[in-house]
Amino acid sequence: MFDSGLLTFSRTLVKSASFILLQGVPTSITLEDLREDIRRVRGVTSVHELHVWQLSESKIIASVHVCVDNSVEYMKVAANIREVLHDYNVHSCTIQPEYNVDNDGKPLQNTV
Ligand SMILES: [Zn+2]
Repeated sequence: MFDSGLLTFSRTLVKSASFILLQGVPTSITLEDLREDIRRVRGVTSVHELHVWQLSESKIIASVHVCVDNSVEYMKVAANIREVLHDYNVHSCTIQPEYNVDNDGKPLQNTV
């Protein structure tokens, strides 16, 4: 009795995970263009781990890590990134800001 709920829960997880994997990158989006447009947002110094999935015909989601310039207010940076994504028809995105990392997302040595 105790286990059945958990089992159902894990099955649901597995199902949704494989669903996402099967959808792949939407053909309407060129990842390199999107990456470049995000990188051009003021305050963004580099972009990595950009992933885009098509969940259904009308729903595209994305996740991205951005290295952010400390001098620019992050809320503005995030709003501008979301605007770029909207232009690509991505209306749901997880943005992870990173500070004091190099272009590959590795922590910088000797940061003050
Ligand atoms: Zn990262």
